[in-house]
Amino acid sequence: MSAREVDVLIVGAGPAGLAAGAELAGAGAGRVEILEREQEAGGVPRHCHHGGFGGRLDRTVYAWAAATGSAYAGSGTSGPAYARRSVAAALDAGAALRTGVSVTGWAGPRTVETTGPGGLERITARAVVLATGARERPRSARLIPGTRPAGVWTTGELQQAVHLYGQRIGTTAVVVGGEPVAHAAVATLRAAGVHVVAVVTDRTPLPVLPRSRHVPLLTGATVTGLTGRARLTGVELRHDDGRTTTLRCDTVVLTGDFVPDHELARRGGLRLDPGTRGPAYDAAFRTSRPGVLAAGNLLHAVERAGFAAQEGRAVAVSVLHHLAGTEDPSGEGRRLVVDAPLRWIAPNVTGPHGARPTGDRFVLRTARRLLRPTLVVSQNGRELHRERLLLPAVPGRPIALRADWLDRVDPDGASVRISAR
Ligand SMILES: Cc1cc2nc3c(=O)[nH]c(=O)nc-3n(C[C@H](O)[C@H](O)[C@H](O)COP(=O)(O)OP(=O)(O)OC[C@H]3O[C@@H](n4cnc5c(N)ncnc54)[C@H](O)[C@@H]3O)c2cc1C
Repeated sequence: MSAREVDVLIVGAGPAGLAAGAELAGAGAGRVEILEREQEAGGVPRHCHHGGFGGRLDRTVYAWAAATGSAYAGSGTSGPAYARRSVAAALDAGAALRTGVSVTGWAGPRTVETTGPGGLERITARAVVLATGARERPRSARLIPGTRPAGVWTTGELQQAVHLYGQRIGTTAVVVGGEPVAHAAVATLRAAGVHVVAVVTDRTPLPVLPRSRHVPLLTGATVTGLTGRARLTGVELRHDDGRTTTLRCDTVVLTGDFVPDHELARRGGLRLDPGTRGPAYDAAFRTSRPGVLAAGNLLHAVERAGFAAQEGRAVAVSVLHHLAGTEDPSGEGRRLVVDAPLRWIAPNVTGPHGARPTGDRFVLRTARRLLRPTLVVSQNGRELHRERLLLPAVPGRPIALRADWLDRVDPDGASVRISAR
């Protein structure tokens, strides 16, 4: 196994990793190397053959979530064009980009083990940035009972099969999920000539649920099983009123329900946040290990590509401080803890002194719909901040919380609690 050293090692060449690489190489951070396990760099946008990346839609936190129906497909740049632009920016700035190289583990606090075309390697870096992204939960993790036939996909797998490899998919499909990504699944199936029978979600009927044109939306329906032996023949559903039905189809796409790709962080012993399941991190994108930082959807599954890229640029500032030895010397900050029905908050640790999260806002998620809730931030029973939201809080959509209360956190106090009332 060969061994070498670099100044900054970035794991993952999606929007976050590429933006971090471009910024760091442009700032003269020394040898900045980006490793990508796929044969091509660019991350998820590479296989998203629809608009909605960058441009006008990238300017607000709600862009992706709000971009339903025709706007979803019609605005901004296409995913592949966005990916190409991000790769070009990193290369032009002088970052070294190596594709087909997977980071498989750690051999020291900032030493990783890799496998690629050149064999096994150990790379030690002065700073490591994890930007490994997020993925949709596959069937096995969703505990869907039934047989194990072919024809079961996540949106990401489907898009790769259709747009990158030109694979034949099937004839009739059911799409499962109530998040905006279900639209992308419908669009991809249609592009592949597949008839979409229905979009199915266990959520209850609400006007804000994303709808795809000319596709029935079945709400309040839970998938209870898949049928078929070699090939899928149907999706079994249980409806809220107790009825059961089977939708005949040879293809099912399980959409949304994203989880951070946190395997590497976990193997490295980084502290994970129980809510996001990504590494716990502060407003400077520092994880629990000095010199190991993180950015993008690994930290919060999921936000839009422009947000991930913005974090990539921001993490570069912290990396430069680390390299120059000018980091805030104060220890780990206070943990941010959410009360149910809130699911998580990101960032989820306070500090360093004076640092603010991207856009001066924390991002949260809720497990159930809340009609214009008031978010309350408190520590040791003392209220630090209270804010009434202008819109309902909906599962799967970002909720923004102002960050100006950070200055009032007691650095020696208990964890900070965020609740919705
Ligand atoms: C179907 C779909 C549609 C979307 N549509 C939109 C849209 O219209 N507009 C929008 O703004 N956003 C959209 N998004 C979200 C957007 O794609 C993400 O926000 C963005 O890709 C996140 O960037 P990232 O760099 O954090 O992660 P990713 O893009 O996931 O990149 C992570 C990279 O890390 C690599 N990697 C992981 N582990 C390792 C390892 N151990 N070694 C080496 N490499 C590794 C992966 O191969 C991957 O290339 C969509 C997402 C999906 C799934």
